[in-house]
Amino acid sequence: MSRKVDLGVSPAFEGKRIRREEMYLEFGGPKVDKKFEIVRAADLSQVKDGFVEVIGQDIPQLKEGGSYSLGIIILVAGSKVDKDLEGVVERRIHTYTNYIEDVMHMNQRDAIWIRIGKKAFFKGFDFNFWGETLIKLFKSELSFIEKMQVTFITDEAVIAQKLPEVLEVYRERDEKIKNLREEDVDLFYGCVLCQSFAPSHVCVITPERSSLCGALTWFDARAAANIDPKGPNFPIPKGELLNPEKGEWSGVNEVVASRSLGAIQRVYLHSALEYPHTSCGCFECIVFYIPEVDGFGIVHRGFKDPTVNGLTFSAMAPQASGGVQTPGFIGIGVNYMRSRKFLQGDGGWSRVAWMTSVLKESVKEAIPSDLVDKIATEREAKNVDELKKFLIDKKHPLAEKLAKKVEVPPIAHTAERKVEKAEVEAKPVIKAHSSDIASIPLPILTSGAKITLHGAKVRIGKLAIKKKGG
Ligand code: SF4
Ligand code: ZN
Repeated sequence: MSRKVDLGVSPAFEGKRIRREEMYLEFGGPKVDKKFEIVRAADLSQVKDGFVEVIGQDIPQLKEGGSYSLGIIILVAGSKVDKDLEGVVERRIHTYTNYIEDVMHMNQRDAIWIRIGKKAFFKGFDFNFWGETLIKLFKSELSFIEKMQVTFITDEAVIAQKLPEVLEVYRERDEKIKNLREEDVDLFYGCVLCQSFAPSHVCVITPERSSLCGALTWFDARAAANIDPKGPNFPIPKGELLNPEKGEWSGVNEVVASRSLGAIQRVYLHSALEYPHTSCGCFECIVFYIPEVDGFGIVHRGFKDPTVNGLTFSAMAPQASGGVQTPGFIGIGVNYMRSRKFLQGDGGWSRVAWMTSVLKESVKEAIPSDLVDKIATEREAKNVDELKKFLIDKKHPLAEKLAKKVEVPPIAHTAERKVEKAEVEAKPVIKAHSSDIASIPLPILTSGAKITLHGAKVRIGKLAIKKKGG
């Protein structure tokens, strides 16, 4: 039975964080293995318009403070609705759920994390209200949706049974893009859906760089831009190819500069070290520079232990978030690792020294076969010393430099950098024009963030400081 609900629904509530002490309960997130949200296109005759179904316990029956499994299945139908739009519509679950007062939705696909605040619960929030709100918002904002129904599943056995099928749908969507290259298309696509969290963040989605949230491929973004030209997805004419290795296009620079209101002037699509693509916070993985080996580590969101540099995913997340360029840190989608252009501007796979074992297993087919056994995971290297030894033993391409004792650069020594989570604003940035590890730029951190550098040498050629907002 539905409860009386007295909650606001407005874009004004988007971007509000709910801290643990403010939350009533949460669905998904790092403590929960089985979770997903999916949108499927269906025939008009298959969808019961306005129908909200709950399989398992509803929110009032769940214990306060808990972390629960959740599956959300949304069926949409309409004469213009087809499979190509599924990913796009699915990404709006994030946006519209965040319109609900005191409810926070993060991530996507099988990585969702939703917190229901105490205020929302005591004002009557339940699945019925959530589902009805989504249906109203989807149908009013996306006019091509004629019918929609929502199913929430909290019964763990049903979630476990549906999950393989859901993962297969995600896989098929990602597979479709595999043979298309950046050179084959005239347009890339942008997404600014996450600007409510990261105002200067602009996702650039190309056939060889799917979105960092993992939710949108180039096909998805194209379908969204075509069907909803005033929405958050838009075409980016590529312009001139300024740097084929790093992936710098004049059209991308122009559009990103304009959509970020001048905050970001230049983007290398395939580099983590120079003019990196910004991240909002929804990334599936973080690529982080490991100065001691002059290579990269890659950690996925579900990995809770400290990585090889001593920091966890969540400790590094602020470095990559907030729509700022922090050379040495980028947020990426898992699928970008399957791209032929993966970090090509920095040396590609031959620069990857460490990754989580789960991630390595899931993208194994994309790693050049001669490198697979040379990349360490948490099983072989738990710290940088073990990593160096492993790379030398395995004759990793980075090992040669290691034998010559590469100077440790001062800036990206992440283990010595302490940053308060979610309080990072990294602007302005001292620009570097070389991937030379000794010239990695230092973001100036504000909002109470603290940097501790031990035994570091910092050389500054040019330092530009701009007044905030001016
Ligand atoms: Fe769009 Fe990027 Fe946000 Fe994904 S992470 S919703 S592509 S802005
Ligand atoms: Zn985002």
